[in-house]
Amino acid sequence: MGRSDPADPKLLPGYGWIFGMGDGTSNVGLGILSTSKAYGNTDYRALLKSWLDGTPAEWGYRDENAVGTVGGAALPMGFNRTPHYRPGLLLVGDAGGTVNPFNGEGIAYAMESAAIAAHCAVQAHARSGASAEAALAGYPVAMSEALGSYYRIGNLFSKLIGNPTIMGMATKYGLPRTTLMRFILKLLANLYDPKDGAVSDRVITAMTRLTPSL
Ligand SMILES: Cc1cc2nc3c(=O)[nH]c(=O)nc-3n(C[C@H](O)[C@H](O)[C@H](O)COP(=O)(O)OP(=O)(O)OC[C@H]3O[C@@H](n4cnc5c(N)ncnc54)[C@H](O)[C@@H]3O)c2cc1C
Repeated sequence: MGRSDPADPKLLPGYGWIFGMGDGTSNVGLGILSTSKAYGNTDYRALLKSWLDGTPAEWGYRDENAVGTVGGAALPMGFNRTPHYRPGLLLVGDAGGTVNPFNGEGIAYAMESAAIAAHCAVQAHARSGASAEAALAGYPVAMSEALGSYYRIGNLFSKLIGNPTIMGMATKYGLPRTTLMRFILKLLANLYDPKDGAVSDRVITAMTRLTPSL
């Protein structure tokens, strides 16, 4: 994402989106990595306006066509909302910070955490006392096993790319390398095959096995 001044060559780690809502309106916004120095020091409204003002006029993304106000929120990622279980409470999805820190995707992980939580709740329902409690306490353990190591690597990754020097080097030397980019895409999108994959899949699997879980 470029800064609002096109003459300023600095890059911001983040992305913008335009999602059609299916009723003729769009959800339009931008996000910036919280590990970036620009986070909290950027006029997001001005940045959004300058970006949209730069889109073709016929797209219609101008103040006069806005149907809602501009709002902001953080994407809770990399398990930054814990503990996932306390008596009477299981945190799933965004409530449990389950957004993937590599790419900001949260839908699949919200569903995965809900499935794990539901499994633990069913187990607890079939038991009583300490045994039921143990089934529920298994939820954070299962979450950690499912995603803890991968998210720890993701949190490190987002910290690294929040550094403009590292981001600049990655863009300059990494982007043109197809094999490296294929590897990075598998890692970022959680598309590696931990069982029967290619060499790159096996390298990522080894990375997640060697990294302590969150
Ligand atoms: C702009 C944007 C773009 C995104 N793009 C993507 C993407 O492309 N791919 C992707 O995978 N993820 C994306 N995400 C992240 C993804 O949307 C979330 O991670 C995911 O929806 C989390 O699911 P959830 O069920 O945990 O929470 P939510 O989808 O937020 O669901 C929570 C629900 O609870 C309701 N609620 C809240 N409080 C109460 C209450 N007190 N009583 C009753 N109901 C209540 C809310 O209205 C909401 O319907 C995006 C997020 C944003 C903000």
